[in-house]
Amino acid sequence: MSDLRQRFFIENSPVRGEVVHLEHALQTILAQRDYAPAIQVLLGEMLSATALLASTLKIKGRISLQIQASGTFKWGMAECNHLGEIRALADYEEDPHFLQAENSSTVLKTLQNPVLFINIEPEFGERYQGIVPLDQPTLARCLMQYYDLSAQIPTRIILASTAERAGGLLIQLLPRNSEEEQQRVDEDLWPRLTMLTETIKPAELTDLNASEILYRLYNEEEVRLPEVEVLQFGCTCSKARCATALQQIGIVAVRETLEHENPINMDCQFCNTHYSFSAEEALGLFGEHLS
Ligand SMILES: [Zn+2]
Repeated sequence: MSDLRQRFFIENSPVRGEVVHLEHALQTILAQRDYAPAIQVLLGEMLSATALLASTLKIKGRISLQIQASGTFKWGMAECNHLGEIRALADYEEDPHFLQAENSSTVLKTLQNPVLFINIEPEFGERYQGIVPLDQPTLARCLMQYYDLSAQIPTRIILASTAERAGGLLIQLLPRNSEEEQQRVDEDLWPRLTMLTETIKPAELTDLNASEILYRLYNEEEVRLPEVEVLQFGCTCSKARCATALQQIGIVAVRETLEHENPINMDCQFCNTHYSFSAEEALGLFGEHLS
């Protein structure tokens, strides 16, 4: 069992869902920084959540969850693209609360003025940003509230993480369009599935594989499983993106930087890849040459 996402459908019903399991990719991401235990758990939950949300999109591109706050926790973000590549990063100051690794509430309750952004960046087309209040005790509950209020698609999300493994489960009741569909509805189905979904324990979500989880929860239902999708750590950084960043800060700032740093060094915070720009290269981005 490794890093994967399993979609599922309840036959003859408008219910769909996803189960996500992260292991190697999570460990790779958490090894890139020396994160406190509670931050590891929060990042694991954020990564599971983005992998779940990514599959609800029908676009090529990426989706990210980003928490911003004042206080000891500054920001954290997790991202997943349509290829199943995930990455994450967080910045915070030392805080004794972060030594306890329970669930995301350990960090959420320390946040001051927090905001959670859901960013959707299609390869082509307009970006979307949703803002989610972080006023629930866990990340999963904040996200469910978002679906209830904005998308109005009944959704249950369960997230769990340790420093080694993370897991997530999402189940949705999709809108029923035709009258025919309306008539075939089993009114007890959603309440029954919701109740079953909530019986999963955090350790089951992180330690069992997707088919075991789905069997444990929904063995009375007819569950259809399409092929699993592989998730993996992947970074979208490149020298070209670094060049764009230099162009954005402008020629004046680049000249100033070169006075004390030549070549200009840029390290990707997500994957620790090192990029370097000689003075000739950096100035060349602005069509200028060394004088
Ligand atoms: Zn990178």
